[in-house]
Amino acid sequence: MTRVLVTGSAGFVGSHLVERLLGDGHHVVGVDNYLSGQRGNTELFLGHPRFTFIEADVSLGLPYAGERLDWVLHFASPASPPHYQQFPVETLMVGAQGTQNALDLALGHGARFMVASTSEVYGDPQVHPQPEDYWGHVNPNGVRSCYDEAKRYAEAVTMAYHRHHGLDTRIIRIFNTYGPRMRADDGRVVTNFVHQALRGEALTVYGDGSQTRSFQYVDDLVEGIVRLMGVTYHGPVNLGNPDEFTVLEFARLVRDRVGPGLEIVHLEAAQDDPQQRRPDITLARELLGWAPRVPLREGLEATVAAFREAGPPRGPRADGVWAAT
Ligand code: NAD
Ligand code: UDP
Repeated sequence: MTRVLVTGSAGFVGSHLVERLLGDGHHVVGVDNYLSGQRGNTELFLGHPRFTFIEADVSLGLPYAGERLDWVLHFASPASPPHYQQFPVETLMVGAQGTQNALDLALGHGARFMVASTSEVYGDPQVHPQPEDYWGHVNPNGVRSCYDEAKRYAEAVTMAYHRHHGLDTRIIRIFNTYGPRMRADDGRVVTNFVHQALRGEALTVYGDGSQTRSFQYVDDLVEGIVRLMGVTYHGPVNLGNPDEFTVLEFARLVRDRVGPGLEIVHLEAAQDDPQQRRPDITLARELLGWAPRVPLREGLEATVAAFREAGPPRGPRADGVWAAT
């Protein structure tokens, strides 16, 4: 049995990770400040005998004073472009100070450490698909830079702790992941399209929709995370589904599944929007014997059912600030 601290535990990915770790018999300490998470995701586990929760901003410190930790998994960070662009300074801080605080905690406990990095470190990639040894093509001061550069720094400081302090580290680069418990108002493409279709509204494609993404179901990601914690490898590992779709194809898929006949409208293209994205998962296949198992249509079924049950988004307040959950 392992004692695991998960930052970002009230988020979409964090909550699925907590569920899996508890299911595998571990003790889990969740940490979150609800910047982009949901209190309901903490409440899911509060009665569990092996779950405890600390409400804290990990950029300011990690006030954990319990028994020795075996693993520290650093997943705290806004991840949706509208969220991180609303909170650019907080996003930079959680990637920088937040990562360092989590690394120091792991070092103090002699714990294994993992940081959740992202396909955004490849920026608007000029190599396709993206292997881990591609250095990326990032605008260092554009609207996405608060997230991209924070994650690039997070990888750098993680490797520095590994090289300088001998910390046992893991880095995952997560590609677009979806599933139940995404925040209904997170503004990401899966949540937007599904909720628009459920409401009988037009689906909003930004630009001409020729940009591509590859969508991974959250259970596949969690399986990859657990496998990587069980092997020794310190370089970055892509975790994503290599099935690539244009955004327009994806809009048609959601429309046909959830709201046949609905209109698809084109809005202004998002600034610095990566034009293509698909993971090269050769490394994860060889290292972990891992590959995604859930096809998009199947994962979408489960996601639509969960979104229906969770109800409509509350939406941003009139002042543009996301509603508290
Ligand atoms: P999310 O916004 O649902 O979850 C992030 C969680 O971190 C939230 O609960 C939020 O409140 C918390 N958080 C943010 N700043 C914090 C702080 N300073 N202190 C404590 N808690 C804080 O996002 P997600 O999709 O679950 O993403 C989780 C992680 O995975 C993030 O690090 C993200 O960058 C990474 N990632 C996710 C995806 C994806 O497609 N979901 C893709 C690439 C990388
Ligand atoms: N997108 C879109 N309509 C929406 C939301 C997003 O066309 O309502 C596009 C967005 O421009 C991007 C892709 O969908 O090309 C994925 O966006 P998302 O915000 O989910 O994540 P990203 O991969 O950009 O971080």
